[in-house]
Amino acid sequence: MDLSAILPIPDLMQAKRVLAFSPHPDDNEVGAGGTIARLIHQGCEVIYVVATIGQAGTEEIGTTVQELGFIRKQEQTDALKILGDGKVIFWSYPDTMLAAHESTLQIDVLRVIREYQPDFVMAPDPWLPYEAHPDHRVLGHAVATGVIMSPFSYAFQQEGTPVPSPNIAFYGSAWPNTYIDVSRTFDRKLAALEAHKSQFAPPLGPQLMMYLTLHAQENGKKIGVDRAEPFKVMTHHHLHFNAYAWQS
Ligand SMILES: [Zn+2]
Repeated sequence: MDLSAILPIPDLMQAKRVLAFSPHPDDNEVGAGGTIARLIHQGCEVIYVVATIGQAGTEEIGTTVQELGFIRKQEQTDALKILGDGKVIFWSYPDTMLAAHESTLQIDVLRVIREYQPDFVMAPDPWLPYEAHPDHRVLGHAVATGVIMSPFSYAFQQEGTPVPSPNIAFYGSAWPNTYIDVSRTFDRKLAALEAHKSQFAPPLGPQLMMYLTLHAQENGKKIGVDRAEPFKVMTHHHLHFNAYAWQS
């Protein structure tokens, strides 16, 4: 069944205020950096909400958890400055442990949506097959739930002023329905990723850049441009009791 006639997919590039939820510093850049740069450039307010400060993001012994957290906060702030101007809200959930804090996280997501009243939110797609990182699954689910619950004032026993549901753009989706032309902002995306020095030293950094470049070129072909970022864009109607949402 083709839902698009009765339930159109909203235009992400019409967004006026975006809350971009990220499990760790760097995920927003990996999934949506070129699009975020375009949105900021055209006057959209982009606010990052980073759930953990990525204290577990190292394979080395030597750097303390506190030191790495400090470094990654600074890297995230620098990376967003490269994409454009924007605010970063850092939460202090423990890296890799979002699942153990799911109910508190859900309330925080709802609270921040009600406070900032975005017309769009972004998050990693929690329904990505083979996604093994629990923080990505848990935060993606929490943001999707926040979208459908934001109009209900007593959801999750949290009193708050109801606000209309924002639309959602999942990045890193296996079933995208929207391709954003990032041909002119892709270099900024790569530069923003390079700001995450603690994460993308060789060989991983160059490999990731190559993967993202090929991925963007592949997605660009879908809309006849050099490079594109794919998203699964949905309304709150898609996100509840909708058997066709995954293919719309
Ligand atoms: Zn991550």
